[in-house]
Amino acid sequence: TTSFGIEEALEQLGIKDVNHGTSTGNKWFPGGEEIASYSPVNGELIGKVTSTTKEEYEQVIASAQKAFLSFRAMPAPQRGEIVRQFGNKLREMKEPLGKLVSYEMGKSLQEGYGEVQEMIDICDFAVGLSRQLNGQTIPSERPGHVMREQWHSLGIVGIISAFNFPVAVWAWNTALAWVCGDVCVWKGSEKAPLCTVACQNIIAGVLKENNLPEGISSIINGDYKVGEMMTTDSRIPLISATGSTRMGRIVGAKVAERFGKSLLELGGNNAIIITPTADLKVVVPGAVFGAVGTCGQRCTSTRRLIIHESVYDKVRDAIVGAYKQIVIGNPLDEKNHVGPLIDKESVDTYLKAIEKAKAEGGKVLVEGGVLEGEGFESGCYVKPAIIEAENSFKIVQHETFAPILYLIKYSGDVENAIDMQNGVAQGLSSAIMTNELKEAEKFLSFAGSDCGIANVNIGTSGAEIGGAFGGEKETGGGRESGSDAWKVYMRRQTNTVNYSDELPLAQGIKFDL
Ligand code: NAD
Repeated sequence: TTSFGIEEALEQLGIKDVNHGTSTGNKWFPGGEEIASYSPVNGELIGKVTSTTKEEYEQVIASAQKAFLSFRAMPAPQRGEIVRQFGNKLREMKEPLGKLVSYEMGKSLQEGYGEVQEMIDICDFAVGLSRQLNGQTIPSERPGHVMREQWHSLGIVGIISAFNFPVAVWAWNTALAWVCGDVCVWKGSEKAPLCTVACQNIIAGVLKENNLPEGISSIINGDYKVGEMMTTDSRIPLISATGSTRMGRIVGAKVAERFGKSLLELGGNNAIIITPTADLKVVVPGAVFGAVGTCGQRCTSTRRLIIHESVYDKVRDAIVGAYKQIVIGNPLDEKNHVGPLIDKESVDTYLKAIEKAKAEGGKVLVEGGVLEGEGFESGCYVKPAIIEAENSFKIVQHETFAPILYLIKYSGDVENAIDMQNGVAQGLSSAIMTNELKEAEKFLSFAGSDCGIANVNIGTSGAEIGGAFGGEKETGGGRESGSDAWKVYMRRQTNTVNYSDELPLAQGIKFDL
């Protein structure tokens, strides 16, 4: 790892052998139990992080509550200035942070840098937004009255994030929440705790340079039990949780029980429909990157290809051919396309999914399996697999967080393919490959894809920060990032002001005294 500059990166990011995992900004708390972080790249211990105790959690929340009172009073464009400086710090730290993401999580170095770039982009977006948290004026039915809508800061935003985007998801939430005047408490993934510590080190510097109080950016660390402290805590009006549908079902219920708001970003089961007029030059890279990028560990990874029978053989052969060129290995080495899965448990899930698909009648077109030998010592490197399947297979209906691609045939009209695409419990990302205008428009219409993201002639994976990101059904319904996603981080207030000398009632009601 030394040759890839990991040691230097850790040093630049302030990561030690044992790190405090709880912080309110520049103040760090000793914590309890240690979480060890092993790299899926080579199986080596990268470092340890202490988890947050209940007492420390209470101090973090007290500090956040106090900070909120002053932070919400700061003009929004000034909060934007803090986010601008944070974006600049990220530009400086892009290389070490991208490397740590790649080394701790296992995605390719290019994708690690890409993830940090996403953080930078959302900061830029948020800076502009800080002057556009606009409400509106609304015509009143009563003479001498005016109505308007205002957006006020919400309070503490609790962020729970998944291992696969260990830094960007935090930034998507915090950059917006901060310009909205909220303070954030983040529990990152226990599978990538050093990324959480590194991010906090970066923002802590910015907060210090601006003499800002403790409590604007806090981190806590630990497993679901630490997450639960937040989900059951009425002092936190919004919980933004990214992860599995299984987690979202529990978190959503806990937050609803106390009438909190939740923003859920959960699992996907994303498909590309490949029609008779699809252009293979677009289909092959779109489908292959979508299926094997990040080793199939993106919420938007392509899991299903729904291919028209008239082009099925041609498309299948082209995709299978492209899989032969995939190079698997150390993700820090730019010549490799695919790195490891996050851990051995995930490898096990992947192997079981392949067995289940076979048992249901799936036909393996590209064999999977675990790689062994030099360079694969961590035991987390697997071969991307392709299986011919039916949409109705139980395993196809399920999100397996690994590089397994199911090929499914459709016949007749595009409506049949859309039915299959929609015929799963998840609703995150979807795509159609077609040069037929009517097919594309049908796919995007109210009767088309039921997903939060629907693309034409590009794949399912990857998204730009300018649009709202998220999905329907078991994906949870939340939207993050661009468009008007900021509104969830604020509370809406409707105002009516009477500037007349009378008090007319609404709906013409008479109430004579
Ligand atoms: P996970 O659900 O195992 O864990 C996610 C986070 O939730 C972790 O921080 C974990 O500690 C926490 N958590 C788990 N149970 C909890 C509970 N009961 N209360 C509070 N917190 C709890 O997910 P993972 O394996 O880290 O990530 C993979 C999953 O995330 C996939 O399903 C993927 O599709 C999904 N994901 C979705 C999006 C999206 O934007 N829709 C983005 C990234 C990942």
